Amino acid sequence: MRGPRAEGTARDVLVPGRMPGKEAVIQRKTAEQIRKMRRAGTVVGDTLRMVRGMCHEGVALKELDRAAESFIRARGARPTFKGYHGFPASLCLSLNHEVVHGIPNQRKLKKGDILAIDCGATLDDFVGDAAISVGVGPLTADVEQLVATTLECLLAGIAASRIGHRLGDVGHAIEIIARRRGYGVVREYCGHGVGRELHEDPQVPNYGEPGSGPRIQSGWCLALEPMINLGGDAVHTLSDGWTVVTDDGKPSAHWEHSIAVTDAGAEILTLCSDGTQP
Ligand code: MG
Ligand code: MG
Repeated sequence: MRGPRAEGTARDVLVPGRMPGKEAVIQRKTAEQIRKMRRAGTVVGDTLRMVRGMCHEGVALKELDRAAESFIRARGARPTFKGYHGFPASLCLSLNHEVVHGIPNQRKLKKGDILAIDCGATLDDFVGDAAISVGVGPLTADVEQLVATTLECLLAGIAASRIGHRLGDVGHAIEIIARRRGYGVVREYCGHGVGRELHEDPQVPNYGEPGSGPRIQSGWCLALEPMINLGGDAVHTLSDGWTVVTDDGKPSAHWEHSIAVTDAGAEILTLCSDGTQP
């Protein structure tokens, strides 16, 4: 199901790994394609907002997933994750020390939990992909700060996503904010191009050297997704083959938006239909 890890680069495990040396093919989307992506992205934003509102003590992860699937289908869209390389659900739900790709199950939310909700929707052949991290009731101050900083990392990455900048500038903008606060930055999973496929070229690591990497061009659509840990960088995958957790068991936060870069700058495609953050 998963290909070899690309030499020397981070990758998202959901991406069949590129063979080393294979050229990235980065598609530039037309205005019409970006319009479709905005529509798909809005379904994702609204779904995340709806699920966020359900995150109370005692609610099972499976209930969140069922509600999300119904919501997405009622909007005429398809849950992109369901069946993707065999993934069994519509949302990835990652609790506390789980980083990404958690499988919704019967576990119930508890006070003080932090839940990363990752959602994909396909509408009219184009994909939106975004994630939020939410607290169940009040969080401890250090976890609250982690969640806020991870969002800050995402917004800094979006601000750095401008024509003429390089992907290393984006990764650097994300990483430096996390490092300054002493957080771990997950290196084995990364952001990615998005369009007709959930995962397209290029890979967008959450770290980088300024001035390095491919130069961003008009029409690129990217999913930026910092995964930031309260402890160290290291993560591993559980025996279910999906759930990625921190090695040190400390909490992790994840925020993601799909964006389109044009002459007008970076536009977030996965906001809610009222134009606000999910
Ligand atoms: Mg995602
Ligand atoms: Mg993604």
